[in-house]
Amino acid sequence: MNLTIADVRLTPILVADPPLLNTRGVHQPYTPRLIVEVETADGVTGVGETYGDTKYLELARPFAGKLRGRPVSDLNALFTVADEVAVDASRVSGKVDVGGLRGVQTADKLRLSVVSAFEVACLDALGKALGLPVHTLLGGKVRDTVEYSAYLFYKWADHPEGVPAEKDGWGAALDPAGVVEQARRFKERYGFTSFKLKGGVFPPDQEIAAVRALAEAFPGHPLRLDPNGAWSVPTSLKVADEIGGLLEYLEDPALGTPAMAEVAARTDVPLATNMCVTTFAEIKEAFTRDAVQVVLSDHHYWGGLRNTRQLAEICRTFGVGISMHSNTHLGISLAAMTHVASTVPGLHHACDSHYPWQSEDVLTERLTFHEGKVTVSDAPGLGVALDRDRLRVLHRRWLDDDGALRERDDAAAMRVADPDWVTPAVPRW
Ligand SMILES: [Mg+2]
Repeated sequence: MNLTIADVRLTPILVADPPLLNTRGVHQPYTPRLIVEVETADGVTGVGETYGDTKYLELARPFAGKLRGRPVSDLNALFTVADEVAVDASRVSGKVDVGGLRGVQTADKLRLSVVSAFEVACLDALGKALGLPVHTLLGGKVRDTVEYSAYLFYKWADHPEGVPAEKDGWGAALDPAGVVEQARRFKERYGFTSFKLKGGVFPPDQEIAAVRALAEAFPGHPLRLDPNGAWSVPTSLKVADEIGGLLEYLEDPALGTPAMAEVAARTDVPLATNMCVTTFAEIKEAFTRDAVQVVLSDHHYWGGLRNTRQLAEICRTFGVGISMHSNTHLGISLAAMTHVASTVPGLHHACDSHYPWQSEDVLTERLTFHEGKVTVSDAPGLGVALDRDRLRVLHRRWLDDDGALRERDDAAAMRVADPDWVTPAVPRW
């Protein structure tokens, strides 16, 4: 068996995305993703996916060049090889990431997001070569299914007039009744029993009303609200006071560890984050100050599936809960998320996934949710297969784009509808 990486293929694509609202703006009609393939000398191919914005592509290309000739099993070396690739300083703003809403942007975060796709692709290839599923390479699954939550969004019925976009069949959701209707459809179609609402879009009182409406429509179902750090500490405490009893947890009510610690000290409502704990370096302060009670892992942030497991172990050591965050992603990443989640003991909260919002994929067969759960594949590797025709179509869309959509920018997408829109200062309320 020859596990040497003989070829690496990078395919940037644009995938349809509905007009989902968040505190910074609205999703673009198409979102960039990068599909990574590694092929061994024996012709075994593994796949991974990550963010597709130019800053990630600029890193992925030289990184891919350095991997040829290395074994796909050389997973630890991915990080040292990534460190050898220079990051263009102009690509690192030092500000809060626009599209990903993942805290302050750094060169290391960029590197880890790129490594994540290659690590998943290498694990997929290694698993296929050995005839073993990825979860076995991670030490073995401790559950046969992974539970996901319905990811509810305020949304428009359509992207702004005149903007080329795919039609989605979800309609608008701009008030409590619309949110409840969306949740009902999620439950009917996929069987989800946990509901997360992306907040920070409307003044807190309106979002409090939406959570109350959800609680009334779905009694006993776990609910979460995530305003992406849009609130001040007093506002966070007011919301916690009013609807804390209805929530499984409150996600990133305020921005940054100091503010989260202040909120956490004055409420019993558990706080979750995918914004103030996004790297190993950020763990110490957050855990020492008891700023968060649940960390929402994301293998794209943390540098892959093995680092996600390491994060889970640290959380377990400190008695902090673990679950999973999601950004716009396709089936390759959902498969990767499911494999790693299946190996994590103490996963007490349903994971987030945007997947139901993505009508397009690059797989021959879409992954499915039954009773809100994805069955863990026991097939070799990730258990998914690339649809090359679909990949070509979505890559063609990327090639045909004049550059306007190649960088995800929710504020710019919002300005198409509202030319006066500026990214709101934080805290917004
Ligand atoms: Mg979040």
